[in-house]
Amino acid sequence: MTTSSFDEKRCESISENIKLIREKISVAAIKSGRNYEDIKLMAVTKTVPVEYINYSIDNCGIDLIGENKVQEFLSKKDELHLDGVEKHLIGHLQTNKVKKIVPLVDMIQSVDSLHLAEEISKQAQNNGLNMKILLEVNIGSEESKTGFDKSKFFEVMSQISELPMLTVNGIMTIPPICDDENELRKYFTTMSQYFYDIKEKNYKNFNMEILSMGMSGDYTQAIECGANLVRIGSLIYGARIYK
Ligand SMILES: *Cc1c(COP(=O)(O)O)cnc(C)c1O
Repeated sequence: MTTSSFDEKRCESISENIKLIREKISVAAIKSGRNYEDIKLMAVTKTVPVEYINYSIDNCGIDLIGENKVQEFLSKKDELHLDGVEKHLIGHLQTNKVKKIVPLVDMIQSVDSLHLAEEISKQAQNNGLNMKILLEVNIGSEESKTGFDKSKFFEVMSQISELPMLTVNGIMTIPPICDDENELRKYFTTMSQYFYDIKEKNYKNFNMEILSMGMSGDYTQAIECGANLVRIGSLIYGARIYK
């Protein structure tokens, strides 16, 4: 990674963006009977150059980051200031890349099949570590999206609970793009119900504590509907430039 184009102005705006987001998180948390401290803010760092990620870690208190791609995380990780920072994989994970990523991240949020969960369990055993995962739900049943189908989701739960060295810490989703805010809230509210339904069942190896939903465009609504981890990228770092 080159540092030739380090832009002070961009850093200033990152600081301001994070400050504003925290204020809005606080308001949304209170609206839903909680506090700022109950909500985790993840900085989504895909396509963001390492120097700006490091700026947000060193200067803005970012202590949780999310990357989408195994390869991208591998290419950045040595330059990142990751002391005390939690790292989650949030993008679709191919089975053949599980081996590489398991030793390097604290959580995999994007588990979307029993097969993938089995492979993560296997690699966790090989590495002698316990892997935390979230189950990703395709809440809008969209063809274009990954995630468990709502109908299959509950079927696999008991099988996943039998997998060694795996802890299911909660669920995550990306809802469909909605013009209608009521429709959006319906998806978030359904997720919230799933979260409590699963929690009540007390599956073995489940420690239901994270409801991961809400991105740059909808995090306040997500929090109001029960989210306790929001994943925000462009609203922190600016629009993504894909190469
Ligand atoms: C990119 C991404 C985000 C962040 O998206 P923004 O709209 O930029 O906030 C959140 N979650 C996942 C899974 C993503 O891929």
